[in-house]
Amino acid sequence: MKKNDIFELEITDMGTDGEGIGHYDGMTFFVKDALIGDVITARATKLKKNYGYARVEEIKTPSTFRVEPQCELHKRCGGCQIQALSYEKQLEFKNNKVRNNLMRIGGFSEAKLDSKMQPPVGADNPYRYRNKAQFPVGYDRDGNIVTGFYASRSHNIIPVEDCRLGVPQNKEILDIIKEWMNECGITPYDENTHKGLVRHVLIRYGFTSKQIMVCLVINADELEPEHLAADTLCERLSKIDGMTSISYNINKENTNVILGKKTVCIWGRPYIEDTIHLLSYPDFTPQGTGITYQISPQSFYQVNPVQTERLYGTALEFADLNGGETVWDLYCGIGTISSFLAQKAGKVCGVEIIPAAIEDARENAKRNGLDNVEFFVGKAEEVLPEQYEKNHIKADVIVVDPPRKGCDELCLETIVKMAPEKVVYVSCDSSTLARDVKYLGENGYAVKRVRTVDMFGMSGHVETVCCLHRVNS
Ligand code: SAH
Repeated sequence: MKKNDIFELEITDMGTDGEGIGHYDGMTFFVKDALIGDVITARATKLKKNYGYARVEEIKTPSTFRVEPQCELHKRCGGCQIQALSYEKQLEFKNNKVRNNLMRIGGFSEAKLDSKMQPPVGADNPYRYRNKAQFPVGYDRDGNIVTGFYASRSHNIIPVEDCRLGVPQNKEILDIIKEWMNECGITPYDENTHKGLVRHVLIRYGFTSKQIMVCLVINADELEPEHLAADTLCERLSKIDGMTSISYNINKENTNVILGKKTVCIWGRPYIEDTIHLLSYPDFTPQGTGITYQISPQSFYQVNPVQTERLYGTALEFADLNGGETVWDLYCGIGTISSFLAQKAGKVCGVEIIPAAIEDARENAKRNGLDNVEFFVGKAEEVLPEQYEKNHIKADVIVVDPPRKGCDELCLETIVKMAPEKVVYVSCDSSTLARDVKYLGENGYAVKRVRTVDMFGMSGHVETVCCLHRVNS
């Protein structure tokens, strides 16, 4: 086999990013945009010892799981990986990914997982679910200002006018911003030269409140007053129904991190609001009263608010509180899970690294009349051990919802020392979940239930909630 060789390949599996996998001539091939069940003519693009990469030259027999994608840019844009796959098959694929990681990394047997894992919780509408989008701004080849998304594994902007995962209002907002930039001679930021002004446009939409936030990320200390003069940006944006907050965020660093530390509100309020209800499993009826949150540009807020209600419903069901417990909610963001826990527990303590999120969390507790919550700013792996050593804190239940890299070992070590009855682990990356659950398993905790919730239709990502109980020794 040589590079550029053409051969027939049957796709029999899918990789973690949704790429097709097939075997030929003793080698494993990874093929972007090929789906499980496809028979394709493949062209080898890169060869290693036992595996290689190939490109689809032609689909000879399409998979029965193929569906018509809604977005014509889905192959080029890095945002969606599996739009051409039926949604049922997407759910099966993601659930299997979690299972495989729990077996391979977590050391679980298949039989054990069968008894713990519940059916995946899919979305009723796997499109138009995102309440947040961060569009990079740049030039196309002809020198026109474009906004869109990065192509996969690159920083080339694919101009996406109306992303089908986001709300239709995004397009109108981006059109106004491009028009304003053209009229005022404002340049997009260029990563190579580190020159130019506008880096990204962040848009958030409250699905229940219908409030909209627009935040321009700029490579300067401020927007020039003449650019903000009457009848320009804010004037036009504020005519859009629901516009609530317009701000700019300062990011002058040479970095891939989108937001800088400081945000300046230039119209309306510095935040939007949104309401979440808990939905019970499996019929998804609302339980208890909804909670309304304020959300600042820098704060983390789940991007799929519809599925979030099912995710939090699952986390609360797994926590199974009866009113008197002390609960720690680590990686709490703006205190969303904390508030629901506080409705059912004696006391809740939240820990979060972003100070602006904790400001939102405190404000949110106040506006929802929750006086049994306390928030700490800092790293979970620092705050928890410090509080444990100094104040001998206790917990009946600990909820963790870390970013993709999972929990720091120091955090897990302290959880084990605190010996809560239950640990509820909410995870956006099942490989780190499996690693951390293995650690907890070796230190006195047994997995009771696992449920995946699909928050990210059309992408390979999946959220998992796992409930562990302390094994009495
Ligand atoms: N539970 C929240 C947030 C989950 S996202 C919700 O559902 O909305 C993970 C959060 O962890 C983010 O808010 C991020 O800022 C925060 N974070 C990242 N690293 C952290 C660390 N080491 N310690 C505490 N919080 C951290």
